Amino acid sequence: MKIVNVETFLVPPRWLFCRVETDEGVVGWGEPVVEGRAEAVRATVHVLAEYLMGQDPLRIEDHWQVMANGGFYRGGPVLSSALAGLDQALWDIAGKTYGVPVHALLGGHVRDRVRMYAWVGGDEPAELAESIGARIEAGFSAVKMNAGGRMPALATVADIAGVVERVALAREILGPGRDVAVDFHGRVSAADARRILPLIAEFQPMFAEEPVLPDRPHLLRDVVTSSSVPVATGERLYSRWDFRPVLEAGVAVVQPDLSHAGGISETRRIAALAEVWDAKLAPHCPLGPLALAASLQVAFATPNFLIQEHSIGLHYNQGADLLDYVLDPEVFRFTEGYVSRPEAPGLGVEIDEAAVRRADQAGHTWRNPVWRHDDGGIAEW
Ligand SMILES: [Mg+2]
Repeated sequence: MKIVNVETFLVPPRWLFCRVETDEGVVGWGEPVVEGRAEAVRATVHVLAEYLMGQDPLRIEDHWQVMANGGFYRGGPVLSSALAGLDQALWDIAGKTYGVPVHALLGGHVRDRVRMYAWVGGDEPAELAESIGARIEAGFSAVKMNAGGRMPALATVADIAGVVERVALAREILGPGRDVAVDFHGRVSAADARRILPLIAEFQPMFAEEPVLPDRPHLLRDVVTSSSVPVATGERLYSRWDFRPVLEAGVAVVQPDLSHAGGISETRRIAALAEVWDAKLAPHCPLGPLALAASLQVAFATPNFLIQEHSIGLHYNQGADLLDYVLDPEVFRFTEGYVSRPEAPGLGVEIDEAAVRRADQAGHTWRNPVWRHDDGGIAEW
C-alpha cells in the first residue's frame, strides 16, 4: 500500500483537516492545526507530504521520526501540529487496514468509558451559575472555566477576589460530588498565581491550568508548592522533551493536545513519561471531530488518563460546530458525562467529506483577539 495523495481543508470555525489517500482506497483523516495559524500549518503539511508520497502508510513510527527529526530544525507549534495531523491520519489508515479501532493497536482498552468535562462561561464568565446548571442538567460531573478575563501585570485585590468568588460559586453549585477545573490561560503572573492558588485551595478545584506561561517552566515549582491545588499544563507544549521540565516541577496533570503535540504517537509517549511522576493525562481539545476522536483513542488505551476536554458548544465555535462534519454523531454522545468506547476501525469517526469540501470553499481566517491593558500595553489573552 502506498500514499498517493494528501489534501488539506480549512474549515470553520477555526480548524484544518487533512486527508491521506492510498492506492488501495484506504483513506485516513487527521486534524493538523494551530488555532489562529491554520494557514501556516497547512503549508507545512504539504511540505511534509512531499516525503510521504509513495510511502507505505503503515510505517508510522519511521515516518514520524523523519517528519519530526529529519528536517534538522524540529519542534514548535507549526511543525509539531502539521506532524500531529498526519500522524492521526496514518493511525486512521492503520486501523482501517487491520479492521480495528486505534486503541486496539495501542494495546487494547484499559477502561470502558471516558469521563468528559464541559466548558462553562466564556472568556469573561459572567453568567456562570446558569452555565454550570445547564452542564449539570446535561449530565456532566466536571466543568472547566476560565479563572478570569484580562488580568493586569499584577492583580488588584478586586481582581483576585473576582477569581476566588467564581471558584467559590462553582463549588457551591457543583457540591462535593462534582469537579471544577480552573484555567488561568497564562493570564496571571507567577507572583499572582502564588497569591491566588492558596486562596482557591479551600474550594478544592480538580486542577489549576496554565497558572504560568508555557515558556516559564522554571517558575512552575514555586507555584506548585504554593498550595495544595493540583497544577495542570501542556496545551502549548509539543513533545516529551517540552514536558520533562514541567513534570520535574511537579505538575499533577499533563495536557498535550493531540493536534499539537506530535499526534497519537507522541502523546502516548508523553503519557508514559508523565506516569514516572505520577501525573495524569487530560488531553487538551478545543478542536474538531478528528482531534477529539484521536484523543479518545488514546484515552481508552492509556492507564494514567484522567479526563477529556471537548469543544461541543464551546464559545469559540461560531458558525460551525464539531458535529457538522461527522456522519455518525452518536460516537460523540455523552451519557452521564461519559463517552462510550468507539468500535469502528481507525479513529472511529466517519467524516462527512462533502460537508468538509463545502466548508473549505468558505474557509476561515480565525485569529485570537489581541488584548491590551488600560495603558495600551499588550495583555495575555
Ligand atoms: Mg487551557
